[in-house]
Amino acid sequence: MATAVPEVQGDRGAAAPAKKIEVENPATGRVIASVAVVSPERIPALVARARAAQPGWEALGFEGRAKVFERAQKWMIDNTDRVIRTIVSETGKAWEEAQLAEVAYVTGALGFWAKNAPKYLADEKVKTASPFVRGRKLTLRYAPLGVIGVIGPWNYPLTNSFGDAIPAMAAGNAVIVKPSSVTPLSPMLMGEMLRECGLPDGVYQVAPGSGETGAAMIDAVDFIMFTGSTPTGKKVMERAARTLTPVSLELGGKDPMIVCADADVERASNAAVHYSMQNAGQTCISTERVYVEEPIYDRFVDLVTEKVRGLRQGAPGGAGSVDVGAVIHPPQSDIVEAHVKDAVDKGARVLAGGRRRDDGGHFFEPTVLVDVDHDMDCMREETFGPTLPIMKVSDSREAVRLSNDSPYGLQASVWTKDAAKGQRLARSIEAGVVTINDAQINYVALELPMGGWKSSGLGSRHGADGIRKYTKKQALVVTRFAPKKDLHMLPYSSKRTKLIGRMMRLVYGRGKR
Ligand code: NDP
Repeated sequence: MATAVPEVQGDRGAAAPAKKIEVENPATGRVIASVAVVSPERIPALVARARAAQPGWEALGFEGRAKVFERAQKWMIDNTDRVIRTIVSETGKAWEEAQLAEVAYVTGALGFWAKNAPKYLADEKVKTASPFVRGRKLTLRYAPLGVIGVIGPWNYPLTNSFGDAIPAMAAGNAVIVKPSSVTPLSPMLMGEMLRECGLPDGVYQVAPGSGETGAAMIDAVDFIMFTGSTPTGKKVMERAARTLTPVSLELGGKDPMIVCADADVERASNAAVHYSMQNAGQTCISTERVYVEEPIYDRFVDLVTEKVRGLRQGAPGGAGSVDVGAVIHPPQSDIVEAHVKDAVDKGARVLAGGRRRDDGGHFFEPTVLVDVDHDMDCMREETFGPTLPIMKVSDSREAVRLSNDSPYGLQASVWTKDAAKGQRLARSIEAGVVTINDAQINYVALELPMGGWKSSGLGSRHGADGIRKYTKKQALVVTRFAPKKDLHMLPYSSKRTKLIGRMMRLVYGRGKR
C-alpha cells in the first residue's frame, strides 16, 4: 500500500494547518497514510457546502441519480483490487472479508438502491375510512431531508459508512460521512469514485476526525445515521435531542446460536466457526455465544475445536493467504483478553487459542471456550473478537431463555432440521433478525430490514425503512368537489350536530357489544 496522503475533501479554506490522523495497518503496525482531520469548527462549512449542492442533486430525479450509481457500480468492478487493498491495509482483515462483506456489498447496494429508490419513495395514493374526508384525494409523499450525517465504526469501514450513504443519496440528500478515526481511507476512496462517476461537488463529503467532529456534525445536519457501540449511540442520541435531530442507531450485539439435537451438526459447526471468526469476530452480528442441546454437545464441541485449531492467522497478503486477520483497533484486545480471563477465573476451559499477540501486528488467537455460564462476561457482554463460548443446555426452552437473558437483541440463529420448530423458536427470541440454519446472510438481502431490538439499536437499515428514514413525509390532501360549507364547519347548529350523530351511528354503530 502506498504511503501517499489521501486528499481530504471539504476542508478547503481552513485557516490553521489541520491535525493529522496517522492511519496504521494493524496487521503490521506500520503507518500507511496520514490524513488531515476535519475539526469540529469546520463542520458548519461542510454542511453549508452540502446544503448548496443538495437541491441540484434532488432535481436530477431518480433516473439522473441512478446513472451516477450505475457508473459507480462499474467503477467498483473495474477497481475491485484497489478497493480491497485499501480496506485490507487499514483493517488488517483477510482479503476475502474485504471482497465479500464490503466490496460485494457496496457494489450490490449501488445497483439495488438505484433500482428500488423510485419504488420505495413513489407517491402513495391513500384511501381513508373516515366519512368526514371521503371524496378527497389523499397522497403520501417522501421528500429528501436535506443533509444526512453518517457516523461509522472501524470494523467495516466501507459497508457501515459508505453503505449507509448510498440510500441517503438515492433519496436525493447530500451526505457527510464521519468515518472512524481508525479507518478513514475507504470512505475517502469512495469520494474519488463518485467524482469520477459524475456526482456533483458537495453531495458526498468525508470528514475524518475524532468523536468531537462527529458530535459537531450532529448539531448541524438533518438526520444522523450512526453505527457503533451502544455507549456511544446513547451519547449520539443525547446530543441529537438538543436540536431534535432524528437518529437511526445500529449498535452492539451478543448474537446467540441455538443448536438443537436434530441439527445437521456438521453444517452447524462449520457455521459456528465461520460466523464467530470471520472478520476476526469484529462484526456486530457475529455469533458471540452458542447453546447446544445435550445429546450433540460433545460432538459439536469436538468439531468446532478441530476446525478452529486449523485456522490460519496472520497479516493478510493476497487472496487465500489467511483465514483470520488482525484486531483492527488494538485496544479491543484488552476487552477480548479480559473476557477470556474472567471466564477462565470462573471455571471455563480454553480448548483453542486464548492469547493475544502484539508483535508488530495486533492479533487475538481464534479461541474456543467451554464450561461457560451466564455469570461470565463472555456470555453477557459484547466481546467483539475471535472467541466462541459454547454452553450445554438441557433443551431448546432453556436455550431461548438464556438467549433472551441479554440487554442486546441484534440477531440470533437457530439450527434444526425441523423448519416449523425453527420458526417457532425464532419467534420467541428477542432479536431484530433470526435466521434458521444460517447466520449473517440476511445482511445482503437488502429487501429485508436489519435493525436491533433492545440495546442493539433504534430504526433499521435496508428494506423500505432503510431509505424512507432519510425522507420527511408529507401528506397532501386535495379537495375538488365540495359544498360551499361542510357539515362540521362553524357556526354549529343542533340540526347538523344531530346529523353528524346519525352518521356516526350508521358508520360505527353496527357492531354488537
Ligand atoms: P464507537 O462507538 O467507538 O465509534 C463509532 C463512531 O462514533 C466512530 O466514528 C467514533 O469516532 C464516533 N464517535 C465517538 N464518540 C462520538 C460522539 N460523542 N459523538 C459522535 N460520534 C462519536 O464504535 P467502534 O468504532 O468501536 O465500532 C464497534 C462497535 O460498532 C461495536 O459495538 C459493534 O457491535 C458496533 N457495530 C454495529 C453494527 C450494527 O449494524 N448494529 C455494525 C457494525 C458495528 P472515533 O473512531 O474517532 O472514536
